Amino acid sequence: MVKIELIKGDITNLEVEVIVNAANTSLLGGGGVDGAIHRKGGKQILYECIEIRNRQGGCKTGEAVITSGGNLPVKKIIHTVGPRWNDNKSDEVNKLKSCYQNSLRLAEENKLTSIAFPNISTGIYKFPKDKAAEIAINEVKRFETVFINKVVFVCFDDENFDLYKMLLDFGF
Ligand code: ADP
Repeated sequence: MVKIELIKGDITNLEVEVIVNAANTSLLGGGGVDGAIHRKGGKQILYECIEIRNRQGGCKTGEAVITSGGNLPVKKIIHTVGPRWNDNKSDEVNKLKSCYQNSLRLAEENKLTSIAFPNISTGIYKFPKDKAAEIAINEVKRFETVFINKVVFVCFDDENFDLYKMLLDFGF
């Protein structure tokens, strides 16, 4: 059984085996959590992202790639590209589900035991926070795993934190 934890804070401070980055298709870094991870994690992460780009041409929405953790206190970083919300006209709901499934699968393939997720797509990409939280929790709960024993949802803002708290039925 996977243990689910909820915290409010900055994902770059988390000491888990792998953190997930809400990247963009270029893999070259951006704003929000992506910017924070690259700033604090150092150049090594960008170099590895560039290598992946050269090999496969970036990362499609809903897919995920993995790099080292650079200077962050993690073994690996999984970079997944969330969908930009457009009233679900481009199947954003299923694409967000894929972000969680593909990230969990990559963690599992790499035998990583603890993983932390930011609230993918709910910043610059404007995915409705309530829908996104429901998707995140459902996808984690239905993922079948051998290696992963802890999943941490890291919320940066109060609105997301309160939504997760309610959906996870955490009293605190
Ligand atoms: P997206 O483009 O996928 O929306 P953002 O980085 O803009 O990506 O936002 C995704 C979520 O990450 C938002 O809820 C935002 O508040 C949050 N966020 C921003 N910085 C951090 C951080 N340092 N740690 C954790 N979450 C963060």
